[in-house]
Amino acid sequence: MSQSKFSTLNLKPELLTNLESLGYETMTPIQEQSLPDIIMGKDVIGQGKTGSGKTAAFGLGLLQKLDVKRFRIQSLVLCPTRELADQVAKELRRLARSIHNIKILTLCGGTPFGPQIGSLEHGAHIIVGTPGRVEEHVIKGTLNLENLNLLILDEADRMLDMGFQPALDNIVRSSPKHRQTLLFSATFPNKIKQISERIMTLPTMVKVESTH
Ligand code: ADP
Ligand code: MG
Repeated sequence: MSQSKFSTLNLKPELLTNLESLGYETMTPIQEQSLPDIIMGKDVIGQGKTGSGKTAAFGLGLLQKLDVKRFRIQSLVLCPTRELADQVAKELRRLARSIHNIKILTLCGGTPFGPQIGSLEHGAHIIVGTPGRVEEHVIKGTLNLENLNLLILDEADRMLDMGFQPALDNIVRSSPKHRQTLLFSATFPNKIKQISERIMTLPTMVKVESTH
């Protein structure tokens, strides 16, 4: 079965050019099945195992939606660990290479709090972080989510396994109601179903078995 090319999507020309230079030509199944709805602004639940290309699925949706001229925090990506947050930020920076002056900030636990406040004062378009530390910034008032229009939970099953549900709920409560929410997970246990019903609006479900 032949796979669709990224060029069949209505992505910004600079994103398509960059994908070409990265050697990303065809979409993986989860990208092919989720990106059209993500780009339309729908809430999407994506289930696929490691290596299926989930980061570029939500990352391209994020970059397509982002208005770089508005220097406000527009997207928040939550990940279970600092290592995963760093990997996501790295992949986002690769995908965003052709977008000038884009600011992606990571906010993770296990790193000093003070310098993060300084970075937040300088501003950002995108935050990638772990739920505990992001919640702490929200509570202390050092992170303002009032301009957020896209919330992404990556590896949601692991975040719930690690006990981050209260932090996630708190972050969601501090986010605008009118937003797009994407949830990616390797598995889909009942507690994922429950949180998705609380925080998402009529989500499209995409499930893929294979990586290519
Ligand atoms: P997941 O989050 O589903 O485990 P990743 O997003 O980390 O998977 O992607 C796995 C690898 O595949 C990464 O190295 C990424 O750069 C690469 N990749 C993702 N999508 C494509 C694509 N369409 N074409 C080529 N490589 C891709
Ligand atoms: Mg991943």
